[in-house]
This record gives sequence, structure tokens and C-alpha cells, in this order.
Amino acid sequence: MINFDHIKGVIWDLDDTLYSVTPDLHKSMRESAARAVVKMGYPVTYEEALIMAERSQAEYRLTVKMLCDEFKIDKRDLHLPFHAEMDHTVTKACEDLPAAFAAKPHLQHILMTHASRDWALRMLDHLRIAEFFLPDAVLGLEDVDFNHKHESEYVAKCCMDILGTKPHETAFVEDREYNLTIPKKLGMTTVLIAHPSQSPKLPEHVDVKFTRAADFLENVGVMPSSAIA
Ligand SMILES: [Mg+2]
Repeated sequence: MINFDHIKGVIWDLDDTLYSVTPDLHKSMRESAARAVVKMGYPVTYEEALIMAERSQAEYRLTVKMLCDEFKIDKRDLHLPFHAEMDHTVTKACEDLPAAFAAKPHLQHILMTHASRDWALRMLDHLRIAEFFLPDAVLGLEDVDFNHKHESEYVAKCCMDILGTKPHETAFVEDREYNLTIPKKLGMTTVLIAHPSQSPKLPEHVDVKFTRAADFLENVGVMPSSAIA
């Protein structure tokens, strides 16, 4: 069992970690992508772009991949316009998440998402947990020079610098297990939040798995009682 007594800082993922991505949000993402490429002036109608976004989600689980490939769009150029129009109100907040954060005032929190900072700020507000994150502790992909969590130590080190914690005092919480490989190598506690896409067997670089983010918070400072594995 993992002892969480030493944890002082938590690096949070957003999508499918602090809330569940729903079919309505996938629809909003397709519509946002289509609107963005039309507004940016690429030679495609909204309806055509929407069909490409649908196929891209179905084939690659990535909304903008086929649009970027077809029109040779640098994903960095589409990043902010794509996320700007996504509708956060179609997502459902976890009712007990604000109380779970409030119950652990000794923890410092930082949010790091591969989406945009604007999306993260809107979602934190919607989830009623914005007050637990300092303004400079909410990072989008654009804030870390488009370095991805699974590709570079830069992201995890940047987050720890802002938190002011050492690796052994830091937990990294994610729904994608491959994003926990580097945090584990750096010496952090790695926490996986359950998602249907995951294999039932817990990978070696994952210390512990919980059903929900609130379940993890409830166990910080005590031996976990509701860990899945
Ligand atoms: Mg995620």
C-alpha cells in the first residue's frame, strides 16, 4: 500500500481526471474544430470540416488530426482557436470535488493540461475548484512550449518549480498511464484515475489507481482505503 503522508504538492491533469469527457463534449470539440478552421480561412466549408473532425475522432481519437494533415495546419496554430470555442457547460461537475479539495488545505495544487490554459480556467471555475489553484499554477500546452507530458521531463520539472516541491513530495495524477512514465522516473508518486480505455492490469510505473479524483484526495495523509489496486 502507498503512504501519502509525504505528499505536499499535486500535479493534476484535467480532462478525464478532474471530470469525465462526455459524448456532448466530443460533439462540442468537433464543432469547435470545424468553426476554427473555417474562421482561419482554410478552403473548406463548416459542414465538410465537421465530417473530417468526426472521422478524425473515430479513427484517431484526436479531433483535429485529419484537418491538420489535410490542410497542413501546424497544430500550434490551431491550439488556441480550437479550445476557445469548446463549450464547458456540457460537462458535469463531480459534486463532492470542492469539499475534497477544501478538506486538505496543506496541499499545493497545479493543473497541467494538453488543452489550453483558457479551457482549464473555464473548467476549474465550472468544477467549483478554481480557488484551490493560484493563477500561475494553471498551465496549458502553450505555457510549456508545447512539450507533452509523455515526451519530455520539462513539463514535470516546470510544475515542480512552480509548486516548490521535491519529487518525493509530489503526486502526479492522470487518466493516461503513459503520461506517468516520466513522473515515476523522476521519483514522484504516480496516481492513475480510472478510465474505460485502460488495461485492467496496473503498469509498473503506476503506484496507485483510484476511481475518482476525490477518492485520491480523501486518502492523502492516510493509508488509502479505496484504492483499486
Ligand atoms: Mg486526461
